[in-house]
Amino acid sequence: MNREDVLAKVPFGQFIEGSFVSTADTFQVHDPATGEVLAEVSDAGPMHAKAALDAACWVADDWAATEPRKRAEILRRAYELIVARGDEFATLMTLEMGKPLAEARGEVAYGAEFFRWFSEEACRIEGRWTTAPLGGNRLLTMQQPVGPVYAITPWNFPLAMGTRKIGPALAAGCTVVIKPAKLTPLTMLYLMQTLKDAGVPDGVVNCVTSSNSAAVSKPIMEDPRLRKLTFTGSTEVGRTLLKEAADGVLRTSMELGGNAPFVVLADADVDQAVAGAMPAKFRNNGEACTAANRFYVHESIVEEFTAKLVAEVEKLVVGPGMDQATTLGPLIDDDAVAKVKELVDDAVAKGAKVLTGGAPIDGDGHFFQPTVLADVPRTARLLREEIFGPVAPIVTVDTDDEAIKLANETEFGLMAYVYSRDISRVVTAAERLESGMVAVNTGVVSNPAAPFGGVKQSGLGREGSHEGLEEYLEIKYLGIAL
Ligand code: NAD
Repeated sequence: MNREDVLAKVPFGQFIEGSFVSTADTFQVHDPATGEVLAEVSDAGPMHAKAALDAACWVADDWAATEPRKRAEILRRAYELIVARGDEFATLMTLEMGKPLAEARGEVAYGAEFFRWFSEEACRIEGRWTTAPLGGNRLLTMQQPVGPVYAITPWNFPLAMGTRKIGPALAAGCTVVIKPAKLTPLTMLYLMQTLKDAGVPDGVVNCVTSSNSAAVSKPIMEDPRLRKLTFTGSTEVGRTLLKEAADGVLRTSMELGGNAPFVVLADADVDQAVAGAMPAKFRNNGEACTAANRFYVHESIVEEFTAKLVAEVEKLVVGPGMDQATTLGPLIDDDAVAKVKELVDDAVAKGAKVLTGGAPIDGDGHFFQPTVLADVPRTARLLREEIFGPVAPIVTVDTDDEAIKLANETEFGLMAYVYSRDISRVVTAAERLESGMVAVNTGVVSNPAAPFGGVKQSGLGREGSHEGLEEYLEIKYLGIAL
């Protein structure tokens, strides 16, 4: 799809009460593949943030009282419109975030599906009715929408991280103010237009785009009418926001950083493990919270696994995501390239061997070579820190027990991958792995019908599935005397 035609469809302004409100200030959005300016986007100040929350509060009661079936039908229309506009959404994501176009199309399907899934869940908000154990009173447990929600999303999945929050919020009967990352606001603005076209009433969803996240978030977070914060991003920023949320004792959902281990046990199917390692590591340019960050491979198969992985990695085609042939795009900015380089250099200085790649690529854009490191020492920083780039560090292990212990040596606990042909080994490993999700003999498990989320410092709460809906519901108990 033509770049100029797609950019021309993006509405500019703060999306407040169903209108796009222009501002005096703007900020630039860049194409990470070329460094070119894609657009000048409206830059919100605190007064726009307050206006957006005002709008969400004014219609909160009406939206909560809207029949579930009507909420469901609006979400279903939004799903259908995203699918119909799939080429535009995919092109926007590739332009502003850099992922290969085929992967951006995958995100359209995944992101839209949250609206279809939660359109179905909107009519499944249930309660309980019991008799008190000693008789007499009847005990009614019901669920109601939490109230106005503030949603903050990262740049790496510009569509899906938004729909994963807006879908359940709307299904539950909550209104929303959403703030996308300043690096990738275009997809979210186009989503706002799409929600409007799908019939979402004015004020039910509002969006602020800003170059200063902290300043624009402050008046929203401090407002006593806000009832919930839902955040996806780094653990560092998540911690700060949790402290701010404490003042208003807000309900919070936190989807934070990861450091996923990819464990290949001695009896694994090596070809299957390599096939899974490729998307687990290199999908989304290596910039996924679920990305395999560390490979623990049994010594009996490590040579075969490593050789086959290097062969596959060398087939990756690095380039702008808009080129049909590209299978690995640029990193988001220069800082990301510098961070990946620093982590690789640290590992190499401590004794890791570079089998392929290992360095940034000169020229326009923010590219890093797809990289495999072997014999990575346990002191290397990249085994503890989120790499967020196309680098696969391999560590050799001698036993299942050693692999699991090393896998758990992290403060994160989002995703873990395990490969084995023995079901009891798999179950034992999965039960011991300290993570919210375990991928068994596969490199991708994200699914709107499944609970996505982490333990330890990877977060609080779940997104997707029925559990994702409950994050936007409060429980109320009625004791009824007969
Ligand atoms: P980030 O934490 O830097 O930013 C996330 C969002 O928070 C952005 O919208 C940013 O503008 C905003 N923000 C930053 N400081 C803020 C402040 N003081 N107040 C209010 N808002 C603020 O993260 P990022 O670089 O955009 O995304 C990458 C991170 O997100 C990685 O750590 C990745 O693992 C994580 N992530 C997690 C999940 C998950 O589901 N667990 C999914 C995707 C990404």
